[in-house]
Amino acid sequence: DRLISGTAKEREEQYDRAIRPLSLTEYIGQPVVRDQMSLFIEAAKQREEALDHTLIFGPPGLGKTTLANIIASEMGGSLKSTSGPVLERAGDLAALLTNLNSGDVLFIDEIHRLPPVVEEILYPAMEDFQLDIMIGEGPAARSIKLDLPPFTLVGATTRAGMLTNPLRDRFGIVQRLEFYSHPDLTQIVERSATIMQVPIVPEGAFEIARRARGTPRIANRLLRRVRDFAQVRGTGEITLQIADQALNMLDVDQHGFDHQDRRLLLAMIEKFDGGPVGIDSLAAAISEERHTIEDVLEPFLIQQGYIMRTPRGRMVTRHAYLHFGLPTPKNIYN
Ligand code: ATP
Repeated sequence: DRLISGTAKEREEQYDRAIRPLSLTEYIGQPVVRDQMSLFIEAAKQREEALDHTLIFGPPGLGKTTLANIIASEMGGSLKSTSGPVLERAGDLAALLTNLNSGDVLFIDEIHRLPPVVEEILYPAMEDFQLDIMIGEGPAARSIKLDLPPFTLVGATTRAGMLTNPLRDRFGIVQRLEFYSHPDLTQIVERSATIMQVPIVPEGAFEIARRARGTPRIANRLLRRVRDFAQVRGTGEITLQIADQALNMLDVDQHGFDHQDRRLLLAMIEKFDGGPVGIDSLAAAISEERHTIEDVLEPFLIQQGYIMRTPRGRMVTRHAYLHFGLPTPKNIYN
């Protein structure tokens, strides 16, 4: 059983690699980010300098890792990847920094979760390309300074507000990724389908895009599952009808909300009279981690106008009642 799921996972990873855009021209949507990055990269290349350190923030699955990869390949360097919680000790980061070559990109995912001792090493490394570290303990302890090659740090975070000020101030470029429009996601689905050699009609691609929570990772995942459905229940081609049936079977509703989205909205309506409700009470009510609600579920529901954040807590809007066909309370003021 483990072997089978291992193989399936490997296959999904293979697809992931095959469909990941490798250059800015293949990066669909995010026009502001694309235009700015293309200009900054061009300028840095002309000056033969490393690109300024870049912070990318936005909800999961919108293309932060993809953008970091593209920056490295456009700058002609290689990408070394790690993440905040993995770097426990100063030495872990020092080992990565000393292995960089000139023009490389060091990608730190979840950079808001770096321990303070590691973060301190990063300041001089980012500012002066210097490694300043203590080795040994007690009387034998000594500080060593090393010059590092010019490199670009690309940090990714779901929430820019979680970064300390000194760290945020050291990024010369800050990019915020937005949820994707339906036409952009349709293009992403069509591109992935072409690479995967899945026949799809434009209406089928649009249906998947429309129900993918504005997120390329979700669109690509739904595409793979709809492909399975088309293969077994249809002719293999993804039509509008096949896409609709498959997505209904996957419990993705007409607005692209999944089971968890609906559970969150219904809990707010049924258990808290529509709010305001604090995040911890909400997390307890639906047995979900607070950060999953804050990072994964809530951003899309807020962007779509189903939830509001107020100083007293989260509230649902009238759209949430309408979504479930429930009567809208009289005193609702949004
Ligand atoms: P996380 O923070 O959860 O790791 P992420 O924001 O880093 O997510 P990626 O892993 O970069 O997201 O992207 C998810 C998938 O979506 C990738 O497999 C990639 O193929 C696809 N994708 C992301 N952005 C784009 C884009 N602009 N154009 C085409 N495909 C994209």
